Parts: sequence; C-alpha cells; structure tokens
Amino acid sequence: MITLDILPKLEEIMEKQGLSPAIKDSVIKCSHFHSFPAPGLLIGVFMTDYALELLKATPDERLYGVSETHKCAPDALQAITHCTVGNNRLKVIPIGRFAITLNRKSWDPEIEGVRVFVDLDKLKKYPLIYAWFTNDPSFDHHGDSLPLLEEILTAGRTILSFEDVIVTTEAKKKWKSVICTQCGETIPDYLASGDLCMSCAGTHYYFRIGRLSALAAPKHSRPSRAVSAATRSTSLRSTCGRVRGGGGTPDNQILTHNLFENHTNQRRAILFHSKGFILPSLFANKFLPDESQCFIQPIIGYVGSAQFASLILCAPV
Ligand SMILES: [Zn+2]
Repeated sequence: MITLDILPKLEEIMEKQGLSPAIKDSVIKCSHFHSFPAPGLLIGVFMTDYALELLKATPDERLYGVSETHKCAPDALQAITHCTVGNNRLKVIPIGRFAITLNRKSWDPEIEGVRVFVDLDKLKKYPLIYAWFTNDPSFDHHGDSLPLLEEILTAGRTILSFEDVIVTTEAKKKWKSVICTQCGETIPDYLASGDLCMSCAGTHYYFRIGRLSALAAPKHSRPSRAVSAATRSTSLRSTCGRVRGGGGTPDNQILTHNLFENHTNQRRAILFHSKGFILPSLFANKFLPDESQCFIQPIIGYVGSAQFASLILCAPV
C-alpha cells in the first residue's frame, strides 16, 4: 500500500531524474493534498504542468479546468492551479478518459484551451505503467507499486499528448432561491424539479436512519400534496385512518425512535423509523400525552421497495 512514508524515496528518485523544482514541489504538495502519492496523481502532476506550459499560463492566473476522470487527476488540478469544485472552476466529467483540459477565463461562450491526455501508444515503452493503466491482471498492486511510481517519474510527460481545443463556457446563471415543498430546504430554482428538490423528487443518495436535529418541515414550508393530509391534521385520531397498515399489527415494527426538542420552533418531537407504515396513536400516548395538541410531520424517508418509513410526531413544548 502506498503511503506518504514513501515520499523521501520519491524525492530521491526525482533528484536522480533531474526533475525541475516545480515538479518536485508539486509532487509533494499534491501527495499531501491527496493523502498519498497515487500513480494517477503523479501522472496528473505532469499533465497539469504540461497544460500550463502549453497554455503559457501560470498557476496564479484565473484558470478553468476539466478532468475527464474522477480518479486522481482532479486533485493535481486543484492543488496546482487552484481550480476547485468549490470555486466552480473545476468540472469533473465522468467520461473515464485520463485527460484534463485547461483554459483561461472568458466572457465569450467559447475559449481556446488545451487538452492533455495519456497516449496509449506512448505508454507501450513503459510496461509497468501500461499494465497498471490498462488494469491488466499481470500488474501486482503490492510488489509493483514503487517500481510503477519510479517509472512514472522517469516517463514524465513523454507518455502524454495534447490537442488545442475550443471549450464552451457557461455563463453565470441568475437564480432565485426556492423552497422545496416537501423537505423545506432551499435550492436554486434551476435545480428544482417542479416544486420539489431533486432528492424529494426521487434522486435519493441516502435515507435517514437515526437522529434528526431539527423539525423536518419548517414553518415557512408547505407540505407536498402526497403528505398534505397527514401534515395538516391537528389530531392524531383523524390521521390514523389515513395511515395504511395501522392497528399495531406486527408489520408496524418500530426500529428506532428519538425524542428531541426544538425550542426555537416550540415543539418537541419523536422521530420513529419503522418497517412499513406506523400507527401514530400507539406511540403518542406514551411520549406525547396531550395528543390533541400534537400534529404529525410528513412521513419521510420512505425508500421505495425497502419499506422503511419515518414519522415525526410533534407537540408544543
Ligand atoms: Zn426536498
């Protein structure tokens, strides 16, 4: 396994190869940024250095980068050119080619740039890099690691090719803040799917399994149509009839629950997670004695066929 401990050895190799101080500094800086000197990162250092030279640019200019892979190369671009995902000057497009593009700032819809890529023909001179790069089973990820890094530092930019390109630029979007009607969180209008954020519209990357530190639906949010009947209800009893699978059958098994208070909103709440739907009144008496003052937040976190559901009961503090 490659770790930062290998850096002194790499510095020795770079010294022996007569690499420039800029490359040596970049290899060290990028390795710390990336957390270890990965093979793809070292290639990314040479790619970025080459692209800067071809563009006749310096790292302190306002540059824009694209990486066609999420593997390693974006970190070299970020650490050397300060194009980052966060400052919106780096895009990672999951094409899968080991290539980067660099260009300057432009107010026009197009700008000249340079694209640098790993050239498979040139790789053939370097059997270890070729085997690793093509994910050949013959490559030994343990024994060959240091020799691979040495081969990459030896090869430098000789395994790279470039092309001059025209890059299309994106005009800065004007946007309004809108509130998702289901989760109550804000999003830019151009990312909304109807009146929902993409997550509530179905693009889940998580489902909640434990604590929730705030009430799910702030006062300014409106419940979505799908859950509005439950949310608008101010009485547990009137809502129970609308919750399928009620009656305390074994299907309605509570997996976890959390009691929490939110003094800002003057509510305390219980978050239940269950397999399938749950019947609020079974639990309300135990935790929220004055059920007439309770209301129910939307059933949230229901994940398709996984049959998980969450429910929040709220009451004045
Ligand atoms: Zn939402």
